[in-house]
Amino acid sequence: MDNLQQVFGCNVFSKAIMKERLSKDTYKKLLRTLDLNEELIPEVAEIVASVMKDWAIEKGATHYTHWFQPMTGKTAEKHDSFIEPTGDGRVIMEFSGKQLIQGEPDASSFPNGGLRATFEARGYTTWDATSPAFVKDHTLYIPTAFCSYSGEALDKKTPLLRSMEAISKQAIRILRLFGDTKIQKVVSTVGPEQEYFVVDKSLFYQRKDLMYTGRTLFGAKPPKGQELDDHYFGAIKDRVHNFMNELDVELWKLGVASKTKHNEVAPAQHEMAPIYTTTNIATDQNQLVMDTLVKVAARHDLACLLHEKPFAGINGSGKHNNWSIGTDKANLLEPGVTPHENAQFLTFLVATIAAVGKYAPLLRLSAASSGNDHRLGANEAPPAIISIFLGEQLTDIINQIKDGALTSCKSATHMDLGVTTLPKFKKDVTDRNRTSPFAFTGNKFEFRMVGSTASIAGPNIILNTIVADVLKDMADELEKAEDFSVRLSSIIERLVKEHSNILFDGDGYDSSWIQEAERRGLPNIKTAVEAIKAFSEPEYIELFERHGVFTEGEVMARQEIMFEEYAKTINIEALTTIQIAKKEILPASLHYASHVASSIKNIQSVVQDADVSAQIEIVAKINSLYLDASTALATLESTLSKTQGIKEMYKRAKAYKFEVYEAMEALRKPCDALEEVVAKSFWPMPTYGDLLFRV
Ligand code: ADP
Ligand code: MG
Repeated sequence: MDNLQQVFGCNVFSKAIMKERLSKDTYKKLLRTLDLNEELIPEVAEIVASVMKDWAIEKGATHYTHWFQPMTGKTAEKHDSFIEPTGDGRVIMEFSGKQLIQGEPDASSFPNGGLRATFEARGYTTWDATSPAFVKDHTLYIPTAFCSYSGEALDKKTPLLRSMEAISKQAIRILRLFGDTKIQKVVSTVGPEQEYFVVDKSLFYQRKDLMYTGRTLFGAKPPKGQELDDHYFGAIKDRVHNFMNELDVELWKLGVASKTKHNEVAPAQHEMAPIYTTTNIATDQNQLVMDTLVKVAARHDLACLLHEKPFAGINGSGKHNNWSIGTDKANLLEPGVTPHENAQFLTFLVATIAAVGKYAPLLRLSAASSGNDHRLGANEAPPAIISIFLGEQLTDIINQIKDGALTSCKSATHMDLGVTTLPKFKKDVTDRNRTSPFAFTGNKFEFRMVGSTASIAGPNIILNTIVADVLKDMADELEKAEDFSVRLSSIIERLVKEHSNILFDGDGYDSSWIQEAERRGLPNIKTAVEAIKAFSEPEYIELFERHGVFTEGEVMARQEIMFEEYAKTINIEALTTIQIAKKEILPASLHYASHVASSIKNIQSVVQDADVSAQIEIVAKINSLYLDASTALATLESTLSKTQGIKEMYKRAKAYKFEVYEAMEALRKPCDALEEVVAKSFWPMPTYGDLLFRV
């Protein structure tokens, strides 16, 4: 491989490239847009476009595309070539400032939740200069936001950018109160750890369920699963290693700082983690990671499964969203050494705790999907109850605050928030609580509920907004206070008292926690349907409007899309279940049963009074399971068609979860039992054992 330093970011139109290729003056003007969110001047755009085009063509690009993130949670692209006919049979390569800044894809087929009537189906893409453009597959990719004609967000990027502005604005107010008069920008950052499975590609294509739904809908337990704990951090198999190496190189070229890779708990399960960056860039990059995982896997005859729960009975996949906020100089969730720094750290820490406590249902919502319903609350993933793990040292400090350590301080003017000697929190890997959905890990919070396929835009929109909201309340109060320190102490103490019920350092997988959480009055929103329903609570709509993140219309549209997606996903799963049962499992079972039945006759024709009771038992067993499966199949079919007819979307989504899904499970049971009786050579698809171990 080439020098890694040369490879890294070689296909990215980075600040370094811009600085090198733009005039000093243009670069300076562009930086004002990049760093201070100022509007881009058209003349600057014109110059940048021309320089960008030349650079992209040098990198082999023939096309450009506005790259955006519609509400499907995936990315969208439509490629245009740079060619412009000159009229004499030749072409020149053209790319204008206008083409860079704005696009108008024919966007009528993206989910919009009723935001665009079809007669006004136009949507606009606008360049997001804060996320760098890059060249991939001979195309210049320009990260863009996607909005309707009247300015409503039709994507995941727009509200994310809005939420970043909201938290920046409120955090700046707090920092100013702490005496930082020059501060201009605060950014939220995230490092998402991505879990995934890889299976053999040819086996993948023999499984209709994996092809259509990304997860197995049938499959008996193999003799070996993850019980030996021998896969986690184990030696990586050669084929997988080669794939991971190529993945790294491809990601590095695109400027994704892929850092860590290892085997995860389940057989065939792995993880990669990049180095953190701003929530906006990290969200774009995580999309690139998911795309690249799938593409590079295929080159190694592997299929990458990003689903939250590809296999029943073994661990599912998540995406740990490591989140923090910082200035260009410091991480605001990093405990300091001086009392002043400690006070500031505690302010942001307590703001986050209060935000999570106050808006737990929104965080739960941000991890809600039908795929993640298989994970949350099952005993490998965090439970569906939101709680915060702080670790021993911080819990101790928070408990002192709760007991009045701050305000009982006699001399308020010497206020040091009662904790002059806040210890420096060492990141102690051994002490981490892996069962907590929201854990403080030294200088950031790790939100562990997010599903592996999800765009991380959602969780970060919520985190940025809810923390911004608490910071806003704090700033409103503090700006009016006569004595900043005294008031700050009392705010912190009050918030800690109000929200300490969300703090939990115990085992989140233990069933006693569920009762304890209920006693504490913490919400336990078990399914995505209920989580989605909460989205439109008036309190939440007000929150989003207060910070300019979503309008009411945008919330309602998003909620509708989430319900729809949820219902459609289970609908596809149900149809696939029906098809596989009807066309593969039942015929194969019958085939094997009649094979055994005719062998009984054959044997008896040779050995007249042969004891064939064992064979008869097989046939009888298959016959009885066949009957069970056929009955369950009929039930699933009728339940499905009844559910499809439900008009109201919440009711429909709920019926998919509690009726259709249950009917699918009821059909799966006899089918998996059939797998255990029917001969391997008759079974119509690769088994769990094949998928998990033949890599
Ligand atoms: P693990 O939790 O697996 O031990 P690490 O603690 O090394 O992994 O980091 C997990 C992720 O957290 C990485 O992507 C890392 O870059 C990210 N991270 C570290 N510091 C911050 C921060 N200040 N803001 C956001 N993410 C961060
Ligand atoms: Mg991890």
